[in-house]
Amino acid sequence: MSMGLLESNENVKELVDNLNYKQKIERSLALIEEAYERYGDGLVVANSLGKDSVCVWALAKMVNPKIGGFIVTTRYKPAQTVAFMQETVEQYPELKIYKNDVEIPENLYERDPDRCCDMLKVLPTRWAIEEMRVTCWVTGLRCTEGRTRTDYQEVEERDKGLMKLNPILIWKEREVWQFLALNGVKVNPLYAEGYRSLGCAPCTKISTDENERAGRWIGTSKCGGECGIHTRPLKGVLVDAV
Ligand code: SF4
Repeated sequence: MSMGLLESNENVKELVDNLNYKQKIERSLALIEEAYERYGDGLVVANSLGKDSVCVWALAKMVNPKIGGFIVTTRYKPAQTVAFMQETVEQYPELKIYKNDVEIPENLYERDPDRCCDMLKVLPTRWAIEEMRVTCWVTGLRCTEGRTRTDYQEVEERDKGLMKLNPILIWKEREVWQFLALNGVKVNPLYAEGYRSLGCAPCTKISTDENERAGRWIGTSKCGGECGIHTRPLKGVLVDAV
């Protein structure tokens, strides 16, 4: 595999359109491999259990079965997602689960979804990064997912001392499904119901909109948007300042 991908500054939009399915897989594997050589056990996969995450997880396991990861879950995850999580960690005990069980106001997700996500998603992500001594976290972000995800790079350092690798950034939704089907990777059964993007039950709907994340946070200012783990600082902030 060629070295230097982590430093490359190629045009993301051109890569989305110009690389074929096989070339994208090779690029993703090379990115993970290069990063794993550099960061060793500091490289950790953030696995949300969505289709993009299980795709990245499968790719990481192809690079090295020893690569570890974490799952952030919340009290509001649908039962199917919880069952899928349990199956997944049975198969991969190297996936650690993080969850914030602190008491929060009832229906906070309706009144202030940003704060709810901060408490239930961003905070446990910070815990994971600190506790697992993560120096490079690997995500399933894709730049064709929706309005808030067009500006990312394959390698980023949003927080100082914490690299972020987005190895399937340039994959299209179809290519993710292609990979999962061709490799027999199991997905959350909720996709069979028609969901295209999965999150907490109260904030996720089935949508027929063109935009892949349109079913997230419908009716709030966050509609089609982000929980915050990709936009809020993950290091250098007091954990109880959220
Ligand atoms: S997705 Fe909804 S329920 Fe889940 S943490 Fe965010 S606001 Fe709360």
